[in-house]
Amino acid sequence: MKTIETDVLVVGAGPGGSIAAKFAALKGMRTLLIEKRQEIGSPVRCAEGISKGWLPECGIEADPRWISATPEVARIFAPDGNCFMMKADRAGNEVGIVIDRHQFDKVLAADAARAGAQILLKTFATDVVRANGAVSGVVAKSFGSDVEIRARITIGADGFESQVGRWAGIRTQVKARDIVTTFQYQLAGIDCDPRYCDFYAGSCAPGGYIWVFPKGKDIANVGLGVQLSLLKGKGEPKAYLDRWIATQPRFAEGKPLAMVAGAVSTNKPLPKTTTDGLMLVGDAARLIDPLTGGGIMNACISGKMAGEIAAQAIQIGDVSETFLQRYEQAWRGRLAKHIERNWWAKEQAAKINDEKLCSLIAALSEVDLNASTLSLLKAIGKKHPKLVAQFAHLMLTG
Ligand code: FAD
Repeated sequence: MKTIETDVLVVGAGPGGSIAAKFAALKGMRTLLIEKRQEIGSPVRCAEGISKGWLPECGIEADPRWISATPEVARIFAPDGNCFMMKADRAGNEVGIVIDRHQFDKVLAADAARAGAQILLKTFATDVVRANGAVSGVVAKSFGSDVEIRARITIGADGFESQVGRWAGIRTQVKARDIVTTFQYQLAGIDCDPRYCDFYAGSCAPGGYIWVFPKGKDIANVGLGVQLSLLKGKGEPKAYLDRWIATQPRFAEGKPLAMVAGAVSTNKPLPKTTTDGLMLVGDAARLIDPLTGGGIMNACISGKMAGEIAAQAIQIGDVSETFLQRYEQAWRGRLAKHIERNWWAKEQAAKINDEKLCSLIAALSEVDLNASTLSLLKAIGKKHPKLVAQFAHLMLTG
């Protein structure tokens, strides 16, 4: 079997993997990024909404090549059609820029290459290998041939369907109630306003929501997520979305350009995302925001941390799980509180029925979109004092 040796091996060239490879390479590590597909960024399984504020933290410059639209406001619609508006900077991690992931993922991988990382496409990791008990790389099929890739540190960035963590003995399974299955069309020829990202909550998408993210003035990603444990059959997410689209006059002339199905995890932070010689990042570490389902930001932030800490570990010659606690501490310090809070918010939101949701959004729709958190709480409190008690903690720690 052919053997390749490297310092840092990154499995998966999504946003988390490319950023990890870039930051490991920038620290002078021989870095190899492997991707099972033949093209980075394709096919797209994403609604493509991100917020803006975190980009500098990950060394990403906003780039017209991957910006499709810049919606400044989120509209959250109740089942009765009433809506509540929030400015992008307060609307979670999917509002601010609608990106083109074909380009975005390639630009990030090109940045990794520019920093010195090697990239191998059509290379599918099939198991981890170990030396002295520690993960020391993977075996893979590369262009149909078996290859062993030996690495001092391996970073698992292999997305929602991740196997790398499981192969290494890390418990990455999540419960069905913490998984949302998704279905999305990209629709052309619709009536869509690029100023807004729209969200539809309630029984149209049990345990999730419907989104309309503009890609231009008459094109949008229109999709939905439904909690897996509430589904009875396989094709149900598509059926839910088709039923809802049929009720929306603005999509009457819509024609599909693409459709995708996928899943996102909506769990609390995992207890462990490292072992000797291995770190997991992004979706592989189940770092998606449980309330919004947005995971690009957390993948990039955790990827950068893992790339830098991989270099530190190699430089001092200690790739043990004990040393890699630096990574656990770094991502938990930056992301865990928010993920915990939004997991709790997701659980509370699932208990609100359509009637209560309509009344809640009616109360909020009276408030100016620049209103403070306190004004929002007051508006809800007039009609739903109990609900305010329930959500005050959430909004005040937001
Ligand atoms: P991924 O982007 O999934 O990348 C993993 C890579 O690893 C893939 O390229 C895959 O081919 C490769 N790979 C997997 N296994 C192997 C292997 N064995 N060997 C080699 N390569 C391998 N997030 C947002 O922020 N905003 C959104 O609007 C949004 N919308 C979404 C809509 C849908 C329908 C879905 C399903 C998800 C959405 N997400 C969204 C989530 C977002 O797509 C992910 O959080 C993000 O892609 C995570 O990045 P990542 O690098 O961790 O993993």
